[in-house]
Amino acid sequence: MSEPSNPAPPPAEAPAEAPAAGAAAPAGEGTVSKKAAKKAEAKAKKEAEKARRAAEQAAAQAAAAKAAEAEDLARDNYGAETHETKFSDDAIDVSLKNLTDEHVGKKIQLRAWIQNARMQGAKMAFVELREEGTWSIQGVVAANPEGTPVSRPMVKWVGAINPESFVVVEGTIEKPAVPVKSCRVSNYELHITKCFLHAAAPTVLGMTLAAANRPIANFSDEEPPVEQAVEKLSVAETAATPAATMLTHLDNIVMHKRSFVQQAIADIRAEMKELYRSYLRAHGFKEFEPPCLIGAASEGGANVFRLPYFEKEAFLAQSPQFYKQIEIAGGRKRVYSAGPVFRAENSNTPRHMTEFTGLDLEMEIKRDYHEVLDILEGVLLHIFRNIRERCADEIALVRSVYPCEEFLLPEPGKEVRLTFAEGQKLLREEGPEEFRNVSDDEDMSTPQEKALGAIIRKKYGTDFYVLDKFPESARPFYAKEDPTNPKVTNAYDLFMRGQEICSGGQRIHDPVELEARIRKKGIDPASPGIKEYVDIFKQAGVPAHGGGGIGLDRVVAWYLNLPSVHLAAFYPRTPRRLLP
Ligand code: ATP
Repeated sequence: MSEPSNPAPPPAEAPAEAPAAGAAAPAGEGTVSKKAAKKAEAKAKKEAEKARRAAEQAAAQAAAAKAAEAEDLARDNYGAETHETKFSDDAIDVSLKNLTDEHVGKKIQLRAWIQNARMQGAKMAFVELREEGTWSIQGVVAANPEGTPVSRPMVKWVGAINPESFVVVEGTIEKPAVPVKSCRVSNYELHITKCFLHAAAPTVLGMTLAAANRPIANFSDEEPPVEQAVEKLSVAETAATPAATMLTHLDNIVMHKRSFVQQAIADIRAEMKELYRSYLRAHGFKEFEPPCLIGAASEGGANVFRLPYFEKEAFLAQSPQFYKQIEIAGGRKRVYSAGPVFRAENSNTPRHMTEFTGLDLEMEIKRDYHEVLDILEGVLLHIFRNIRERCADEIALVRSVYPCEEFLLPEPGKEVRLTFAEGQKLLREEGPEEFRNVSDDEDMSTPQEKALGAIIRKKYGTDFYVLDKFPESARPFYAKEDPTNPKVTNAYDLFMRGQEICSGGQRIHDPVELEARIRKKGIDPASPGIKEYVDIFKQAGVPAHGGGGIGLDRVVAWYLNLPSVHLAAFYPRTPRRLLP
């Protein structure tokens, strides 16, 4: 028989028994033994008395603690916030990003989300409080021996608040012994004395903040296989948090928006729009507002959204093209707009959405259509050169999630402008094998554009460039043909990292020339929308003019080299997705 794995220990040796007090002493040791017995008796009595007193004291303490707990002296300092909740009059409001040594020892009030909460034994809890973006601070809730202002039940309650709940806390700013690595504010911590739950988050979030901050795994609008979707993630956030799909992000729009990467993208986008506006205003452009609802599918009828409009039909504008030209015809020298445009294209690509933001401009041409190109190139360079400094932190945040190579800019005076034909030549000579025979008369495909972008980056050290003189066949009816070579137009596209972000050019301002080109394109100049357009140039003399349309979503996305333009939009609209 084998031995048991945990054999029982051998019985302990019985201790030598001490003689009982008062027991008969052995013969011959009479006096000494009596004395010893008395001494032992006194000692035992003393110890029994000591033990009794200690027990009494412990019982009294336990009773006091129990009473304090039942009473909870901190009960007014925590709980769900109600209209009766009382805050201190002397707590100051200060944003986490403005905390300085001056605030040490001062009482502040903070409104924040619980990013994380953990108990440290029964008397202490740590909470990460996030005020906005990545601005968070460590909050310490420690029970006071007197049970107030923080009691043990309060600690337990705060430590159990669900992540992403919104709380209002008060406490004193202190310097921690060692910097708090897990929070952006690492040099201070908040010693909480009041904590009220303003709005509770559910126990299980649809998507955790950690998952929301990971790169998106899949941009398809189709339901991905179950193992790819990260649904109902547990609140426990680990380093190995799986990435979620775009569908999961959009289904959990609040957590999607709370991710620092989305907030950084939104800030960069807003700043880019601001830079666009400020540059154009400084160059004499006036803002105008084109309509979204229009009465005719002006740009040909394809890719246009139709909707019932009382007893008629209306359309959503595919661009403000005609309206910005009406502004010029109406006597404005330089105009711009920034607003939504709609395309009913069933294009499920990382470059397309059914609604995007168009940054459009139009201007009178004095001598040469390149004046317009100077402005378009100028405004984009202004955006790229300034965004680096203005949004350095945000760009770094985005790159921590979506790493990418620096967006290369040309040196001032060394901007790259090639003709379309020169671009095709480069592709034929230096591009991949399959582009050896590309033609100067046909528009470029997306793979051709990307290949050319790579060649230009290598050759000229820039990710931003212009292709001018597009073939006639590749441009709409309103594009002005080159008077010296009608096979090409005075029209151009601007590119970022090999992808088109802006189309522009000179428009035909002479109604006779316009009608002739409309016919050449196989369109009836008397058709609805087209007739009204041609009439603009018949109503009064209109000067030569040109302009361009920039897609803001693409500018943001390709500057940051995001995997999809959908990430740059606030609420991406795709053929299958209209929510949220
Ligand atoms: P593409 O050929 O890439 O579909 P486009 O030639 O139709 O673009 P334009 O009509 O010239 O584009 O529009 C001007 C700009 O608007 C484009 O350069 C791009 O930045 C943006 N844009 C156009 N269509 C979309 C779209 N569906 N989603 C997002 N941005 C778009």
